[in-house]
Amino acid sequence: MNQKIVHSNVTVGENGHLYFAGMDTVTLAEKYGTPVFLLDDSRVRARIREYKEAMQRNFGAGSMPLFASKSLSFKEIYRIMAEENIGTDIVSSGELFTAVSAGFPMERAFFHGNNKTDFDIEYAIENGIGYFIADGIEELERIDEYAGKAGIRQKILLRITPGIDPHTHQKISTGGVDSKFGSAIETGLAKKVTDFALSKENIELCGFHCHIGSQIFEIEPYVTAADIMLTFIADMKARFGFTAKILNLGGGFGVRYVESDPEISITKNIDAIAEHIHAKCEELDVKLPTIYMEPGRSIVADAGMTLYTVGSVKEITGFKNYVSIDGGMTDNPRYTLYQSAYTLRLANRANEKADFPCTVGGRCCESGDLIQENVMLPKPKRGDILAVLVTGAYNYSMASNYNRVTRPPVVILRDGKDKLAVRRERFEDLIACDI
Ligand SMILES: *Cc1c(COP(=O)(O)O)cnc(C)c1O
Repeated sequence: MNQKIVHSNVTVGENGHLYFAGMDTVTLAEKYGTPVFLLDDSRVRARIREYKEAMQRNFGAGSMPLFASKSLSFKEIYRIMAEENIGTDIVSSGELFTAVSAGFPMERAFFHGNNKTDFDIEYAIENGIGYFIADGIEELERIDEYAGKAGIRQKILLRITPGIDPHTHQKISTGGVDSKFGSAIETGLAKKVTDFALSKENIELCGFHCHIGSQIFEIEPYVTAADIMLTFIADMKARFGFTAKILNLGGGFGVRYVESDPEISITKNIDAIAEHIHAKCEELDVKLPTIYMEPGRSIVADAGMTLYTVGSVKEITGFKNYVSIDGGMTDNPRYTLYQSAYTLRLANRANEKADFPCTVGGRCCESGDLIQENVMLPKPKRGDILAVLVTGAYNYSMASNYNRVTRPPVVILRDGKDKLAVRRERFEDLIACDI
């Protein structure tokens, strides 16, 4: 039985090779070597435009997606976001530095994180960060101090935990009261932090933020979150006379990794959430704030593919079959971390019958270094090219040098042409910091 390929940018050519964004992946593997990350530029831009169109139509011209760049961060990504005129969210000074290096306009950058260091705060202000998404009292004190020194009034949003539990993996759920992120409404902390932010001379509180989790397929958790946040906004108006100009609803739309995952429509989701937001604003007599969202995964995931070369096939009679590839948890730790599902194909034999059950592992000295268990492939042999689909998010950005493995390059596919966006690491890079 041949597994269906469910992504429209993945096809099989007459030569039996897997094509991605209209290009022969086997040729690309030969040209760049493996492992290699591929990124379909037009898919990234199509997703951005879909968010932007739906958000601006529903919420007005100031609304836009802020790309969650922790999902994929290198200079070319920030150039794409700049060209598409959207914002970005960053979570470290390193991401900020990368964005600045790429010429990303800092007024559209939002700095996240539950523990920004003094260095982070000062560095971001020096670089003209648009907004901090402030997590708590200590951070507000520091922002006020550094903004004062810089002679500016720093714009911020406050991260609020709405206290809801979306149906997703525990490690990627963030909106509950028991979370290291933000201030909970339920405990009264959110109110206290708002009051504190409003009292600070060098801070301009612009509104609120929440992020309920990742890989969420239903709209109901968003509707509930929006409800809670708008009610909070109404409460802050009644209590402090504060009008929130911005409501940022975070990221988290789910993507289709395997055929059994649903395919969500970004437009339909936003339309449905918007209808609810408009009704709630009316009910509460709250002026519709500018709405931001922070999609990461749903913008880049299915724009990505990773190619590997098969090294060995081990058939353990009575147990299972292991296929080893020339990458693994160093370029995709998501199966090891979350048992994430992926779709795998043999790129050079994409038309052949997938009748060999196997577990695909990497080359690290860890039994847990697996890319996927119990998949069906045409029986691989050394030298075959293995493609892992939908690896655009949280693969390259989570890659590591464990076992002193060099990180793969990223190749952008644009209008039928391939262009290196990140070169392969060299051995010299591995010892660059060693004294
Ligand atoms: C991770 C994260 C996002 C992006 O989540 P996706 O599931 O990739 O869309 C957005 N906002 C915050 C605060 C996050 O932590």
